[in-house]
Amino acid sequence: MATIALRDVKKFFGHHPVLHGISLDIADGEFVILVGPSGCGKSTLLRMLAGLEDISEGEIHIDERVVNDMAPKERDIAMVFQNYALYPHMTVAENMAFSLRLAGAPRAQKDAAVNRAAEILDLGPLLRRYPRELSGGQRQRVAMGRAIVRDPQVFLFDEPLSNLDAKLRVSMRTEIKALHQRLGTTMVYVTHDQIEAMTMADRIVVMNGGKVEQVGAPLELYDRPANLFVAAFIGSPS
Ligand code: ADP
Ligand code: MG
Repeated sequence: MATIALRDVKKFFGHHPVLHGISLDIADGEFVILVGPSGCGKSTLLRMLAGLEDISEGEIHIDERVVNDMAPKERDIAMVFQNYALYPHMTVAENMAFSLRLAGAPRAQKDAAVNRAAEILDLGPLLRRYPRELSGGQRQRVAMGRAIVRDPQVFLFDEPLSNLDAKLRVSMRTEIKALHQRLGTTMVYVTHDQIEAMTMADRIVVMNGGKVEQVGAPLELYDRPANLFVAAFIGSPS
């Protein structure tokens, strides 16, 4: 588990400013959702947390350590993407074990981690199947399994449900919340879907145009939006 602190974090692509100075504190074990319209900088911010994107200015701290120059592998963070490309020629178990295999983990450790993830996600009966034999929801659970086997301090999710149909999206919300309750790990989750944010988050960060408009618990934003943008965004049906 880990605390995360952003201190006036900025991002430029060339001369183009994309994040204008984001400051944010995330508590140990918190489930924080970054929400905002397409292009507002959510993915860029998440990628900076993961170490996949340079930080132009400012600092990111994880557990009091400045991680600006730390490689992704050293950060003890696992990321679940929207296009969760599974390796088609590997079984579910092999897909989940892959990162541990790369890290040279011994067989017993890989098996234990895969079995634990399979138990948490109810994937036991599917371990020998191939991705093409799975439904969309099952594939998404395998993608989460790949993250869980690494037993990271922080989980990052970038619109993990946006490729699923509406009904499945609703049940996956519940699954991800249950996963958070079970693991108690710090999670940062990006979505452009305000309903997802309202139903899942401990706290919501509303972003717009590379800035934070408001941070608060779902009901707090709903009852006391800081401005018209937040009121319109939170109040509108997705
Ligand atoms: P979101 O995830 O909120 O939709 P992004 O973080 O993907 O937004 O993008 C924020 C802005 O940064 C957009 O204007 C996008 O075009 C721009 N952007 C993202 N990645 C790059 C890149 N690698 N090079 C140049 N511009 C980028
Ligand atoms: Mg994005």
